Amino acid sequence: MKIDDVEERGFGRRDACKACTTKIPVMADLACGNWGVPPEESHRKTFVEVLTEKGEQLLRNAVEGGFVEVEPAPEEALKARDRTAAFMQRLASRWKERLDPLRNATRKERFDFYIGVLRRCIHCGACKEVCPVCACVDEDAKCMALYDETDDHIISLFNCIRILHLMDSCIQCGQCEDVCPVDIPLTLIHRRFSERMQRKLGYTPGMNVSEKPPLHETALIWGEEA
Ligand code: SF4
Ligand code: SF4
Ligand code: SF4
Repeated sequence: MKIDDVEERGFGRRDACKACTTKIPVMADLACGNWGVPPEESHRKTFVEVLTEKGEQLLRNAVEGGFVEVEPAPEEALKARDRTAAFMQRLASRWKERLDPLRNATRKERFDFYIGVLRRCIHCGACKEVCPVCACVDEDAKCMALYDETDDHIISLFNCIRILHLMDSCIQCGQCEDVCPVDIPLTLIHRRFSERMQRKLGYTPGMNVSEKPPLHETALIWGEEA
């Protein structure tokens, strides 16, 4: 079946993956896929992009061990790879619009939506545990430290802090939403806040491990004062 047909029926990839515009990995040692491989050869060939020395060594070892054979990608395959990536990016942009029920909403409607879904939170902490950009242990986590259920008014500081704190660094992976036991659309919420902030900061998280998120220093100063 074509993935489009599967996803039209509500199956397939998680929503975060559908809307992700980084279709060919750039932060990997090797990126492997069928982009650039003619359909008649896809049962025996994989398009492999070598992105690091470690990836190169891995591939070299596999060749020397007799596990794979390699050949340089012909010019036509490189063009097909770019066409496929561009097509998948357009598809992702369309998904992003389709998956956003708030794109034409008024301020009041947006506010009501956020309150309506976030008030379901039972503060299990699962979203924080799985988030790949949350590095705090519990005693250091401001979202945990400032949360007090006796002070809650409809939605908690836990959620407010998480939304604000992850605006520069959320990679929109969707793992928080996967584990949320009360089905809060966390990817959508984080995306709506973080996309605009990251555009303003000119920063795309997850693309360079040696580059810290721009608000990192602010978080440190704030943390020391708190
Ligand atoms: S979508 Fe953002 S907030 Fe949720 S787990 Fe991924 S990085 Fe963390
Ligand atoms: S304080 Fe910020 S970075 Fe730390 S766990 Fe909470 S949301 Fe994540
Ligand atoms: S996983 Fe869902 S219910 Fe649990 S703390 Fe996060 S938002 Fe709340």
